[in-house]
Amino acid sequence: MIATTEKIEYGKEVIEFELLQEDRKTLSIEVLPTTKIKVKAPENKNKQDIIKKVQNKAKWIAKQKQYFVDNYKEPDEKKYVSGECFRYLGKQYRLKVIKSNTDSVKLKNGYLLVEYNLKTPATLINKWYKDKALSIYKKELDKCFQQFIACNIVKPSLKIRKLTKRWGSYNKNSNTITMNIEAIQSNKDCIDYVIYHELCHCLHFSHNKEFYNLLESKCKNWNKLKNKLEKLVL
Ligand SMILES: [Zn+2]
Repeated sequence: MIATTEKIEYGKEVIEFELLQEDRKTLSIEVLPTTKIKVKAPENKNKQDIIKKVQNKAKWIAKQKQYFVDNYKEPDEKKYVSGECFRYLGKQYRLKVIKSNTDSVKLKNGYLLVEYNLKTPATLINKWYKDKALSIYKKELDKCFQQFIACNIVKPSLKIRKLTKRWGSYNKNSNTITMNIEAIQSNKDCIDYVIYHELCHCLHFSHNKEFYNLLESKCKNWNKLKNKLEKLVL
């Protein structure tokens, strides 16, 4: 997959978009609620031709963009104060922050309960998410990998990071799956979908037909899970 940033003009407006060229047959233009524009095109297509096609859709793109500007609100920056809502494994928890003589984070009666002393609530909560993500992703990877045993591949190692544009990625050279910490906000089925997707990359590098056939055989409702996951805005 090749990703570049391109632009078109519409009236006085310069519209930037991300262009992904990958193994596919058709052009797709997507305006995300964040007003980012994603264009997917076949690998072998000439870039100028693609830009021309996108340019022809400029009016539609500008209209979509404006719709999201008018209707979409960025999730507020977390302030880590009591009453805020935090997601974990598909459920929502209200935050309760208490000054204490200890540093701890736990889920209790529908609350994300944070007692803090030496560290700030923000530090404690972020560490808690990271620890949970790592241990749950590891467990889910072990579980999902069972379905790939017959494929004769080596189990990839796991890394977690805060990724801004994707839920996971696979590095062939190091045989490593990198998972987005944020996926821990979604439920385990969605986490498994990301893992299945990346495990399929151990066998098929690009998103070709074989890749999707394999994914479909391991994770039947992947499309539904993908949509569900995409409702969480990165
Ligand atoms: Zn992929």
